Amino acid sequence: MIDGLLQRLGVPATAYRDGTHAVFTPIDGSQIGSIALQGKDEVQARIGAAHKAFLTWRNVPAPRRGELVRQFAEVLRENKAQLGELVSVEAGKITQEGLGEVQEMIDICDFAVGLSRQLYGLTIASERPGHHMRESWHPLGVVGVISAFNFPVAVWAWNTALALVCGNAVVWKPSEKTPLTALACQALLEQTLARFGDAPEGLAQLLLGDREAGEAMVDDARVALVSATGSTRMGREVGPRVAARFGRSLLELGGNNAMILAPSADLDLAVRGILFAAVGTAGQRCTTLRRLIVHRSIKDEVVARVKAAYAKVRIGDPRENNLVGPLIDRQSFDAMQDALARARDEGGVVHGGERQLQAQYPNAYYVAPALVEMPAQSAVVRHETFAPILYVMAYDDFEQALEMNNEVPQGLSSCIFTTDIREAERFQSASGSDCGIANVNIGTSGAEIGGAFGGEKETGGGRESGSDAWRAYMRRQTNTVNYSRELPLAQGIVFD
Ligand code: NAD
Repeated sequence: MIDGLLQRLGVPATAYRDGTHAVFTPIDGSQIGSIALQGKDEVQARIGAAHKAFLTWRNVPAPRRGELVRQFAEVLRENKAQLGELVSVEAGKITQEGLGEVQEMIDICDFAVGLSRQLYGLTIASERPGHHMRESWHPLGVVGVISAFNFPVAVWAWNTALALVCGNAVVWKPSEKTPLTALACQALLEQTLARFGDAPEGLAQLLLGDREAGEAMVDDARVALVSATGSTRMGREVGPRVAARFGRSLLELGGNNAMILAPSADLDLAVRGILFAAVGTAGQRCTTLRRLIVHRSIKDEVVARVKAAYAKVRIGDPRENNLVGPLIDRQSFDAMQDALARARDEGGVVHGGERQLQAQYPNAYYVAPALVEMPAQSAVVRHETFAPILYVMAYDDFEQALEMNNEVPQGLSSCIFTTDIREAERFQSASGSDCGIANVNIGTSGAEIGGAFGGEKETGGGRESGSDAWRAYMRRQTNTVNYSRELPLAQGIVFD
């Protein structure tokens, strides 16, 4: 089955059969491929090739660069069903979410095509007569992309679509847990490049490697920007290494996202919002809802309703009509069980969280989503466990709820369900949520590509995707031009 899929996506069999690194599907734990991992020398050679391509690509007019991305979006549209299916097989996402991830790739390409005619700077008033000032944005160099297993294709596309229209070359190191989707993306982009015709060779490179390959890329001074998505642990290693060589990094790290559920909220809406945000993608989104901060007066009712909704969630093969697929691997399952044990030790009451379908899938890890009533926001609650665990805590007054929202080390996404406009506006104000994303009457996950995406504190501070996130992929230049016959100095300095 996987052979047919990969071949339709243009991946040669040698690329996923001839290596030593085994690739598994989380659906039943069986092996679906074996790939060759690249070492440091190969990493450096690919970065060299990408850098050479950059030197040509930066001079291609930006709208022409946009044409490449427009053609790539067409190829993605033609291959959406197959690529979405491959995401389901390799990352365990349900069909709807696998397709949704490919749609995000298409959306960012469309956005980037428009952007290719809008990479504009400012004109600035000069204090000197006969002078003008402006700001220009120029291509940056090689963009190194490190991506996580849980968005195996979209994160690369967010970075690549913008990097290419901005005049950069791209080198991608995907998660070692999801290399087959990476091979497929690379094959689709290479088909597009062949059709496009005049892009320099080596413009987009794929590095299949483990941490060592990632580190070789991080340390290479030819990589102008390292855009790294993954755990806070990874960001703590990557950020300082890139900074040590004065490179730029864009970090998209872990989240610990909360919902404040106020007494005035529309509870039907809120329960639906909780369900998608907390159990979607089996709790393996950076924006997954992990903390529910609910007003004490409605807590029992909300817990009862969420428990009832959880009981109806269909768990199983993500390609069938289910809402929750498997966890990525055993390590992830163990981390979930450890967190639940810690939560009990810290006074929590755990509902759900047990392994499911073990007889049918002895080597795969399906779990019932867990709802955990906590007496306080204790240590386990402040930690991101990448699994479907929703901690529920009561609050008495709104200021306390806001404090709890902000009282964790991460700062990615947050939301409030309320019909009180004062609470809604306060939540989004300067003294409200400290997160990169703050929503009203919408859950924490499922962002659109039009906005800038990312978060504060231990989430890393980076912004990707929409709005003016493209600026991270370019270098800014201030230009002053004298068209007079004098040479006046700024600040009125006389230097005769
Ligand atoms: P991970 O940190 O284990 O791995 C992510 C990537 O980093 C992989 O490609 C890995 O090989 C690479 N890597 C790890 N250590 C490295 C090092 N020292 N140098 C260079 N590369 C290194 O993360 P994961 O388990 O794949 O993904 C889950 C995590 O990612 C969660 O914490 C989640 O919140 C986060 N995430 C964040 C976002 C976001 O946009 N903020 C999006 C998706 C996932």
